[in-house]
Amino acid sequence: MRIVVDRDVCEGIGMCESMAHQFFEVDDDDVMHVLDETPAESDHKEVRAAVASCPVQALSLVE
Ligand code: SF4
Repeated sequence: MRIVVDRDVCEGIGMCESMAHQFFEVDDDDVMHVLDETPAESDHKEVRAAVASCPVQALSLVE
């Protein structure tokens, strides 16, 4: 699994960070950084939930 961010769509709202802070971080300029693009199998469920939580569908997963 790899996390993909559509930078044209992401608004730095931070829902992803609140759902999975070890993978997503929004900085002081509202720019979101993916901390680990390839989560381990044990974290997939958490990452899927975070991706689904994005209100503007900026996140997707490549299997
Ligand atoms: S929840 Fe969506 S819009 Fe907000 S920071 Fe995460 S990817 Fe960007």
